[in-house]
Amino acid sequence: MRERRTDCGSARTTASRASSPGVTRDTAERETILVVDDDPTLLAAVTEFLDREGYTALTAATGEAAMAALGRTKVSLVLLDLELPDMDGVDLLRKAQRLEEPPEVVVVTGHATLDSAIAAVEAGAAGYLVKPVELPGLSSMIKRFLERRALTRENAQLYEEAQTQRTRLTQILDSTSDGIMFVSPDGRIESANRRAAELLGFGSAIVSLRLLDVLPAHSTARDGSPAEAAFRAVLTDPAGGSGDLEIPQHGRVLHWAARPTKDAGGVTVGLTLTFQDVTEERHVSQLKSDFVSFVTHQLRTPLAGIKWMLELAAQGTGVPDEIAEYIQDARGSSERLIGLVNDLLDIARLESGKLAIQLQETSLDAVTRSVLDDLRALVHEKGHRLSVTGGEALPPILVDPQLTRQVILNLTSNGLKYTPPGGNIAIRMSLDGDSVLWAIQDNGIGIPKEAQRQLFQKFFRAENVFAIETEGTGLGLYLVRLIVERFGGQVWCTSEEGKGTTFFVRLPRPRDIRT
Ligand code: ADP
Repeated sequence: MRERRTDCGSARTTASRASSPGVTRDTAERETILVVDDDPTLLAAVTEFLDREGYTALTAATGEAAMAALGRTKVSLVLLDLELPDMDGVDLLRKAQRLEEPPEVVVVTGHATLDSAIAAVEAGAAGYLVKPVELPGLSSMIKRFLERRALTRENAQLYEEAQTQRTRLTQILDSTSDGIMFVSPDGRIESANRRAAELLGFGSAIVSLRLLDVLPAHSTARDGSPAEAAFRAVLTDPAGGSGDLEIPQHGRVLHWAARPTKDAGGVTVGLTLTFQDVTEERHVSQLKSDFVSFVTHQLRTPLAGIKWMLELAAQGTGVPDEIAEYIQDARGSSERLIGLVNDLLDIARLESGKLAIQLQETSLDAVTRSVLDDLRALVHEKGHRLSVTGGEALPPILVDPQLTRQVILNLTSNGLKYTPPGGNIAIRMSLDGDSVLWAIQDNGIGIPKEAQRQLFQKFFRAENVFAIETEGTGLGLYLVRLIVERFGGQVWCTSEEGKGTTFFVRLPRPRDIRT
């Protein structure tokens, strides 16, 4: 190789031309191209050409000068002669690739060194040019390589961003106190945070295992049924679901909720399952229920005694009218107290799952008419017009008749109570697909919109009742909801304040007694 003058660093710049290929959108930022060759004629010609094309051209006649230039300046592309006086071109290529921001390297070679050019491409060169270099073709080739470089860098940046987001998401998910996992439609866990495995008492990673295989052995739902059944059901239910998971091994209760996860096109791609440790909450709630249950139980016997005594007193002869009136009031109060105690007891038992349910084929029509018999005096007293339709045509349903009676009694007495005298109350029963629909419509005071969301909560009473009816506990609708949900049904209402309310109860009809 001939000894050649090194003039690396003698970068010659031309005035910015917005239309030049070497000028990026920001005209201040021109792409720098380093031409490494020991042939001064070629260097001069290529440099001149690059200047004209709007690039910043640097030249180097030796490998050492080229490395010095690369160390000093951010270079986008190197046109590299493989036969340098001081260094093998492929070695220079490898060194350039190890730079923090490696340039694209295009090897320039004579026919004799074509094999080494191919070796250079295999070592990572972007391409090669065979001498003599055709200047007109050089322009489009440089453009192509620079575009490719820009694309590669953009991809690398996107990849890095995606990795950062991924790491951040994992960090966020791992720092939440809830367990979160994504389950594919075939029941396999595709991703999960660390907490999910911890909560399930699983020692190792759970990703790629089957959901049913990571459930702790003998874990149950709240009603004591195997938890596996609930999870099997939720895997095939497009609406998802929720429930409790009691884990006997470490005595903890987890509340889980499964929601379908959809892709951008709205297609369900799996389930997102969250697990929350609710052991303490359930414990406190159990203590509360046990306390209420104990107190109300203790109250029942003395209250029954008081009621019995008052009944005896009411039947006595020669009681002065004024005293008889007091006894009558006391009887009414004791009955209300007994009603409240009974409601509290039922709620405590339903909440703890301890209420024994006696499912029987039941005629909703017969239960409704028996309730209306009991309420006849109140209907009469308030002068309401009452109608019942659709009951005769209804097939029997499988429910607990006593609890169903409580649902109908609560909803009907509310309709009578919250409708000013002379109102219209209509009860309608009908078949609705696989269910039976029971509805009661009144034209009473209605329920304010903002109160409607809280209606089925314990002790909730809307503001507008205090103007007309102060008696009440706010327990009736809560009890109704617990009972209806226990039968697998739904209760809801529509209402307009000042115009009236309709409550609906939907109860499912099991196939075995369908007529
Ligand atoms: P209570 O009747 O003892 O207050 P409920 O739980 O039965 O308790 O009802 C809760 C609240 O719902 C009532 O206080 C009332 O505000 C509202 N409500 C229930 N039924 C009706 C109705 N038919 N019309 C208007 N408001 C009603």
